[in-house]
Amino acid sequence: RHNSQGDENFLEDESTKNYARKVADHYSARSNQTLEEREASPIIHLKKLNNWIKSVLIQLYARRGDAVLDLACGKGGDLIKWDKAKIGYYVGIDIAEGSIKDCRTRYNGDADHHQRRKKFTFPARLLCGDCYEVRLDKVLAEDAPFDICSCQFALHYSWSTEARARRALANVSALLRPGGVFIGTMPDANVITKKLREAEGLTFGNSVYSVWFDKEFSDKKFKSSRPFGIKYTFHLEDAVDCPEWIVPFHVFKSLAEEYDFELVFAKNSHEFVHEYMKRSEFVDLMRRLGALGDGNQDQGTLSPDEWEAAYLYMSFVLRKRGEPDKN
Ligand code: SAM
Repeated sequence: RHNSQGDENFLEDESTKNYARKVADHYSARSNQTLEEREASPIIHLKKLNNWIKSVLIQLYARRGDAVLDLACGKGGDLIKWDKAKIGYYVGIDIAEGSIKDCRTRYNGDADHHQRRKKFTFPARLLCGDCYEVRLDKVLAEDAPFDICSCQFALHYSWSTEARARRALANVSALLRPGGVFIGTMPDANVITKKLREAEGLTFGNSVYSVWFDKEFSDKKFKSSRPFGIKYTFHLEDAVDCPEWIVPFHVFKSLAEEYDFELVFAKNSHEFVHEYMKRSEFVDLMRRLGALGDGNQDQGTLSPDEWEAAYLYMSFVLRKRGEPDKN
């Protein structure tokens, strides 16, 4: 039906590799912040909101004892969330050597700047590698199948070429058990293209973020014409300065279907907050994270500019087709 279960060798050109390195170097160079530095960040409330969104996804879909694959796990900022969900096993992979090193330190519990804590209860394997190039079914043959895969704020780095996007989805599909779930958060292409259309030139943003498109996209009609490789530069104050790629939603959905996924839901962050803040346990979680405002607004403690930056993202849940094994 499709040639996509990873049998062929997807080829990459040099420029794709260079971009992947640029992204890796950017994240590797970002050192751990102290608690004081973190609290002073101009986007501290946006960071808290993003942590809330990831926690909600994990609480909704992780089950006690689950084997978890965290693609582009970064410095392991989600380890505590997975621990709270009482998972049984964790594999984290990231392309940035520096981030994996920090992740290992955090997992071992020796130098966590944010909170000194007991060791994690689940065993973990942490690897450095390009999740959108390497065949992970081979690397992780002993660890599979996984019950849940998470890719937070990172899947868009695979959309530079069709080969990389396919590798990303082929990897997740090959490693998840039937009925397993794939959760993630990534830029919302619909919002970004709408903002570009409304912009005067090829750039838009506010005091916390900016987006620039290359001149080749000056007709602003790329949305329907190009499924992959629509590059922009993204700057998020105190967080990101990187080349990124548009993930047109219809392309994402149909490619995911090719790899045996069905869409459970996809929601822009604003809609996500509105929906899940109707549940008292998630309101309590927002309060504990310190992002709950005193009014009735979804925006909570975020500044208007942070709230607009939150609107650039969406979360998705995909389910791998098939019935889970009974035993
Ligand atoms: N998932 C983490 C989180 O939510 O805290 C980190 C998110 S950070 C915005 C994006 C991460 O994607 C970085 O750690 C970066 O190194 C990683 N990344 C980018 N391209 C990658 C690739 N090709 N393979 C593996 N990791 C990648």
